[in-house]
Amino acid sequence: MPYLVREKLFIGDISDAAEILQNGSSEITHILSVLSSASISFFSEWRTTLTIPAKEIKKVYVDACHAAGSPLPPNNLLYSLEYAGKDLKLVRMAVPMRDTENEDLLDYLDVCLNFIDRSRKDGSVMVHCFAGVSRSAAIITAYLMRTEHLSQEDALQSLRNSCEFVCPNDGFLEQLKMFEEMGFKVDRSSSIYKRFRMRVLGESYNSGVRMDVSKLGPDPGLPVEVASEVEGAPRVGNNRSPTYRCKKCRRVVALKEHVVDHVPGEGETCGEWQKWRNDSLFNKCNESDCSSIFIEPLRWMKAVEEGASEGKLCCIHCDARLGNFNWFGIQCSCGSWITPAFQIHKCRVDISPV
Ligand SMILES: [Zn+2]
Ligand SMILES: [Zn+2]
Repeated sequence: MPYLVREKLFIGDISDAAEILQNGSSEITHILSVLSSASISFFSEWRTTLTIPAKEIKKVYVDACHAAGSPLPPNNLLYSLEYAGKDLKLVRMAVPMRDTENEDLLDYLDVCLNFIDRSRKDGSVMVHCFAGVSRSAAIITAYLMRTEHLSQEDALQSLRNSCEFVCPNDGFLEQLKMFEEMGFKVDRSSSIYKRFRMRVLGESYNSGVRMDVSKLGPDPGLPVEVASEVEGAPRVGNNRSPTYRCKKCRRVVALKEHVVDHVPGEGETCGEWQKWRNDSLFNKCNESDCSSIFIEPLRWMKAVEEGASEGKLCCIHCDARLGNFNWFGIQCSCGSWITPAFQIHKCRVDISPV
């Protein structure tokens, strides 16, 4: 039986969804399925006696623009929308998501939360995953956070009052905390999101996924691409944000928005070094004392594109050495370990306007 969380909002598992899709429901009109596959055939694979009719409304893929700011690869299914179940009366949105700690929850939140909002205006919605414990609970927690401005802890506690066994996995809880810190939205320009994206990139590199050019940010030294002239798309090299140029040849190598901030002297510092740092007055240092900036991987970094795990970063125009990169991390002069690291020495670049 699905559990009622709020008026017109339910949480359930795959059996609840199958039951409603097969026999209809007097109450529920919309279903948000969060399973490892978005296809309706997931139900017949789960229970071979089940065949659920469905008629596609639309399928939406991650576009290249979106992918440039998110860890999701372009051309991946973002969601599908269909009429489903008995007499094709239910509206089902399906989002492909696995229940693993390193699954990207943040990039699916907007579409899921907006669907829940719309569905509650038109009828009643049930959010379900396989067990009704982790994925669906994470999405409903985010929904309660956004609509009621609750902290991650309070929203989850409130959900537990309706359904006591919900338990989003630790990776989801961490992302929900980021969602809270970003002000109940997914702000792709925030340093919180950028650090998350870098971590996902690092994990995908470590798990042996081939480096894909689409995961590298656009080269800010090239003229604005026609594709990015679309309304609302991020403009490249065409704004007044601070620009980093190679000191030797003046070519643009990064924009301020490519910098991934770190907290000086914090992070996964190892052993004695960390101890010494934490005990010392160096806690008071600020980022202007760091001798390097760390940026997102960009398309001019040929060695990164070729798949090396570490190497030099050289200016694509004059070949001057600008810094280093290492997928397993580099320690900044402030003591912080940055992983993965794409490091530019401040003494090799000029920043303008200052
Ligand atoms: Zn240069
Ligand atoms: Zn630093």
